[in-house]
Amino acid sequence: MQGGERYNSISDRLKEEFGRKTVKLGIDAGFTCPNRDGTLGYGGCAFCSEGGSGELAARVTGGSRMSDSISIQIDRLSEKWPDAAYLAYFQAFTNTYAPVGVLRQRYFEALSDPRISGIVISTRPDCIEAEAAGLLEEINRDHFMWTELGLQTIHRSTAEAMGIGYDVAAFDSACRDLASRGIKVVAHLILGLPGETRGMMLESVKHVASMPVYGVKLHLMNIVRNSRLYGMMPDYVPFASMDEYIGLVTECLEYIPENITIHRLTGDVPRKYLVSPEWSYRKRTILNGINRRLKEMDIRQGDKCI
Ligand code: SF4
Repeated sequence: MQGGERYNSISDRLKEEFGRKTVKLGIDAGFTCPNRDGTLGYGGCAFCSEGGSGELAARVTGGSRMSDSISIQIDRLSEKWPDAAYLAYFQAFTNTYAPVGVLRQRYFEALSDPRISGIVISTRPDCIEAEAAGLLEEINRDHFMWTELGLQTIHRSTAEAMGIGYDVAAFDSACRDLASRGIKVVAHLILGLPGETRGMMLESVKHVASMPVYGVKLHLMNIVRNSRLYGMMPDYVPFASMDEYIGLVTECLEYIPENITIHRLTGDVPRKYLVSPEWSYRKRTILNGINRRLKEMDIRQGDKCI
């Protein structure tokens, strides 16, 4: 565990699974999203960037092959982690939003690459049809994988203001269905959405902690230059200080049972796109601050779980 054994870090679990540092390679498989193609709307969720929140993902389109995208990502990361194991991370946009034949072709193209040890599928809960869930179940039988489900918030008022297009009931239903198929689910929440109090954010955390999830991802709200939210609220700053954010995250961890893996505690936006909070790109400083706070206050993940 990281933070002096104080929370259940996914990077530690992956090291146990694969025997070495394991890195996700962001893939943009060329999908879109119902909030962008006109099915539910255009322009995306207010906080989403033009790249479908996958700015670092390598795109697979037209003539380019999955193996080329994987090579680009490995080249990018191999200097830092020369002996890593790799997971193909279908990151950008909605990665179950295509005919199941297309999904099958894309997923297995990644899995057939000998450098790839497993896959991660990021999607929205209202876009997993029965056939796609069956495909995920099939893959899960023979391969290491998890599915990342965007929830962001349990609060209807926020979800509507951000134009997310689904609610917590959709998340609950998809989460239970995938878990019943033996598929690991990671819940994605955003801390710092406009209008949300600390209490509201903690309610979202407590809710996902009560669901059959394998992991939780707490993403610091990043205002990005090319998002609708920046146009709507150019002066919005999610937290008054890094210290305030660190205090919130440490409290969130107390409400997450220790068997649930922690996948993220900060933001993840390239600095060139970031508007606020301006300190968000200092990921190492934020994580060090969280670890220090946990230690100083003698807090461990799950301390407040009954
Ligand atoms: S559902 Fe995901 S990909 Fe689609 S607009 Fe919202 S954040 Fe972006």
